[in-house]
Amino acid sequence: MKSRVLVWIMADQLMLDHPALAVAEAAAGGRDGVRVVLVESRSWLRRLPYHRKRQVLYLSAGRHFVAELKAAGYHVDRIEADDSRAGLAQAIRKHKPGRLIALEAAEYPARIWQTASMASDLGLPVEVLPNTMFLVGRFNPIADPEPGKRYVMENFYRAIRRKFGLLIEPDGEPSGGKWNLDAENRKPLPKGHQPPPIPRFEPDAITRAVMKEVEAAGFGVGSTDGFDLAVTRADAEAGFADFLVERLPDFGRFEDAMCADQGVLYHSVLSPQMNLGLLEPERMARAVEAEYREGRAPLNSAEGFIRQVVGWREFMYWQYHRQMPELRRANSWEAKRPLPRLFWDGQTEMRCLSSVVNRLIKTGYTHHIERLMILCNFALLAGIDPAAVADWFLTFYIDSHDWVVLPNVIGMGLNADNGITATKPYIASANYIHKMSDFCGTCAYNPKSRTGVDACPFNKLYWNFLIEHEARLRANPRLGPAVLGLSRVSSTERDQIQTEAREFLSRLEPY
Ligand SMILES: Cc1cc2nc3c(=O)[nH]c(=O)nc-3n(C[C@H](O)[C@H](O)[C@H](O)COP(=O)(O)OP(=O)(O)OC[C@H]3O[C@@H](n4cnc5c(N)ncnc54)[C@H](O)[C@@H]3O)c2cc1C
Ligand code: SF4
Repeated sequence: MKSRVLVWIMADQLMLDHPALAVAEAAAGGRDGVRVVLVESRSWLRRLPYHRKRQVLYLSAGRHFVAELKAAGYHVDRIEADDSRAGLAQAIRKHKPGRLIALEAAEYPARIWQTASMASDLGLPVEVLPNTMFLVGRFNPIADPEPGKRYVMENFYRAIRRKFGLLIEPDGEPSGGKWNLDAENRKPLPKGHQPPPIPRFEPDAITRAVMKEVEAAGFGVGSTDGFDLAVTRADAEAGFADFLVERLPDFGRFEDAMCADQGVLYHSVLSPQMNLGLLEPERMARAVEAEYREGRAPLNSAEGFIRQVVGWREFMYWQYHRQMPELRRANSWEAKRPLPRLFWDGQTEMRCLSSVVNRLIKTGYTHHIERLMILCNFALLAGIDPAAVADWFLTFYIDSHDWVVLPNVIGMGLNADNGITATKPYIASANYIHKMSDFCGTCAYNPKSRTGVDACPFNKLYWNFLIEHEARLRANPRLGPAVLGLSRVSSTERDQIQTEAREFLSRLEPY
């Protein structure tokens, strides 16, 4: 008789076609010989005071997945334990399997455990399959990167598009003759423009029970109130179908727009479900391409979305594994300021920051440009410790995972990895924020001044950053024009900018 096979499905691998299931079934001679375990690891779920909506999302999606697997005829255990090792040990004691099969973890610490000591810790043979949830798990455009070398996302993205035949014409050229239509995707939202609402998914009995559990535990930021995220595959698919019809056509042109009263605009809000394995990125990219080919979405929107999903998302996952574990400690600008209290309570007269942080506390979501050009821009210009910023992002966002936060925050947003992820620091003055949003109109500060009591702090900090790091920034070809602007600032004004920036920073209350 063949021995039982245990399949460990991690909390962010909720795929019905999880590769370990098929391998286990073949090895055990059928579904009956397979035992599946999903561990609710308390230490993992409580590493940080995560947003309560994120906690509900994880727990509820996992429990729905267990029900989905059972309905498909699998024997499944959901085990609550202090950590994954304890949960797996419990399943092993109960089922006495001959071996364990798992998929490579997306997160570095768990992956290291899988390869280094999981088998000896658990006392049985372990097989770890390559993580094919990511396209780079199937095709790695840069399989053997040189240490410290900078690789640009654009080339990585083109290689993936070619390999998977996404928006590629029969002659091998990109659809529309261009690889990148970003230049068409920088429109602010016209005044009074109302984007369509996003679908809400009413919590069912499982989710309501989880919400109660999370509130009762009294741990975490934010509230479970108004939780309406998709926690099942069917709802995630419905959310994606709605996006294709209602928002994809305008996704491109308003991709970078920001608005005080509108958090979502034309974005998809599908990262939480993609990151949990409820939606499959390649299939999403193909569905978006089909919208373009059928004439229902313009190319700038289709290419823009596909670039995010198979370009940036894959590149970040790749950078994370390439740069860990050093990435977590990277701090190339030697930024040491503690995270200010305003990141926790949204209390500031800076309207852009207060709108974004307060929306984040309420929903656990803000879109990409707000993350990059408001939150990280401020943190970089204010010299805030990158590790503290990364932990804050991990805490507050519903879609946060180590593999995506560290390269986006420490690499792209704070440029703390010495430009390995992004070739230039994403810094901007109020000029950019004023152009792309409606935040400045009713702000207490003036986006046009860089000195004086009412001058926008973004301006003070931006020019102060250029002055302090002039030599280093001048050496970066992509920042030349910005630094050139410094030659038009008199030495008296330089002194004034620096004095006012220091004074502003000294008033930032730490948390
Ligand atoms: C500082 C910072 C922190 C971020 N933290 C997270 C995070 O915790 N979790 C997360 O999933 N993404 C994160 N991102 C990437 C991106 O901002 C979010 O994926 C996106 O805003 C999610 O909203 P959406 O689903 O509406 O995205 P859309 O604008 O609709 O984009 C479509 C999809 O593209 C993918 N995507 C786009 N850009 C990126 C990127 N840079 N990295 C990875 N995926 C990308 C996401 O899966 C997203 O769902 C971060 C970016 C920055 C700059
Ligand atoms: S003026 Fe400055 S602080 Fe106020 S909203 Fe505009 S960019 Fe933000």
